[in-house]
Amino acid sequence: MSEYDVVVIGAGPGGYPAAIRCAQRGAKVAIVEKDKVGGTCLNWGCIPTKTLLASTELIAHAREAEKFGVKITGIEPDWTAIQDRKQKVTDTLVGGILQLLKANGIKLIEGSASINKDKNVVVQAADGEVILDADKIIIATGSDPAELPTFDFSQPAVMTSTDALALDHIPKSLIIVGSGVIGSEFACVFSVLGTEIVMLELMDRMLPTEDSRVAKQMRSTFRKQGIDIRTETTVEEVLEYRPDGIKVKLSSGDELEAEKLLVSIGRKFNSAGLGLEETGVETDERGRIIVDQTMETSVDGIFAVGDVVGGILLAHTATFEGLCAAENATGGNSTMKYHVVPACIFTTPEIGSVGINADRAEEQGLDVIVSRFSFGALGKALAMGEDYGFVQLVIDAKTDVVLGAQIMGPHASDLVHEVAVAMHMGTTAADISATIHAHPSLPEAILEAAEAAHGKAIHVAPPRKK
Ligand code: FAD
Repeated sequence: MSEYDVVVIGAGPGGYPAAIRCAQRGAKVAIVEKDKVGGTCLNWGCIPTKTLLASTELIAHAREAEKFGVKITGIEPDWTAIQDRKQKVTDTLVGGILQLLKANGIKLIEGSASINKDKNVVVQAADGEVILDADKIIIATGSDPAELPTFDFSQPAVMTSTDALALDHIPKSLIIVGSGVIGSEFACVFSVLGTEIVMLELMDRMLPTEDSRVAKQMRSTFRKQGIDIRTETTVEEVLEYRPDGIKVKLSSGDELEAEKLLVSIGRKFNSAGLGLEETGVETDERGRIIVDQTMETSVDGIFAVGDVVGGILLAHTATFEGLCAAENATGGNSTMKYHVVPACIFTTPEIGSVGINADRAEEQGLDVIVSRFSFGALGKALAMGEDYGFVQLVIDAKTDVVLGAQIMGPHASDLVHEVAVAMHMGTTAADISATIHAHPSLPEAILEAAEAAHGKAIHVAPPRKK
């Protein structure tokens, strides 16, 4: 008999829920973490960025206070206090996970893990090597910021997202390479703090993976916020590294100088050094571990979840994959389904999307109705002073089943979950229309978009008669 039923490698949002679910199912579990429990999400990702955004959104609201008939003077960011608050939030959550692991009887082993050819987990711990004999292994080692060879990351001006979260002052100017989710969220944080920002995007539009209508409206909002976005542009070469800045030449021929440069072009998968070649666990050419629908790798009894398997690089996907692997590692029978995965971008305004978007539906030649409702026509949004953006529903024209939603506007990251549940239940636009929504509330925009699909929205003017 093995010492442990399950050993989990990595205690991020993929690994620690997997360990807890295994323990809940009666397994003897150990989890190995080489850095901080909570992983990227809690320490260098979701939570610290959202904590910074909470501070900068408050500043932005306070600056608008006079529009609401409130006079506030002396609004000033205190970066040290903002950073301290971020750290407190993170520490509280990390502490909570440590308690949960303990309460569930899970052994936490600090150190870097790999797997040997006998399928044992070998941990390089501070006090020497520890070998763990396990029946089943769940790999949840996540990802790290991808680096570009154009830049020397040892230079103080060049930053990954992890460096940007640890800045000890607000930079005067910032070049952001990559206009995806992470780059856009940092742009929102620093533009409110007064940093001059130029954002570079290789593709022909910002947020290239989002619906084009959302991306277009977001670009104009960013421009109004003073963010200079240059699409189809990248850094061709670095002309100068200085202790207090960087000078680069762009593919457009322009030269740019800034105090800092943030590279946010994606993630690299943490599969190297795990001994996967020896154990026969297959990876693809980019280092993603290949798994089946049960999250099992090419080797029986070894599972992999979260960012390290690629796909949708989000914390909640990692968690659901972790729970799926945990069930299967402890005698269950669970499979992962990905058609309802909400994805949120915490920019100002927020973006929340789920399922298929209007562009993809068109590319795939699907027979759909794309129905919209603007927050500019919604009482609650106007009352809140956040009457920008829209709800867009993608609906199967034949069956009326909701296939997706793209929401840009106030609390989009919350609103999108109404559509996610509707999609999970396989409901129709008519079902949403038949559900009484409270007034005045933001979800009324979803109700109106569903009604608009059938030409029944009360607050949308009918097409003009010619
Ligand atoms: P990770 O969170 O990366 O955890 C992996 C853990 O494994 C780490 O703790 C690591 O130290 C450990 N580890 C690695 N190798 C070993 C080893 N050999 N031995 C022992 N331990 C090891 N997602 C969202 O859903 N919402 C957001 O708002 C969001 N914002 C983000 C903002 C930023 C700036 C970034 C960078 C990411 C953001 N993400 C967000 C993505 C999210 O953080 C990841 O998808 C998620 O953390 C992946 O979870 P994971 O458990 O697979 O990996």
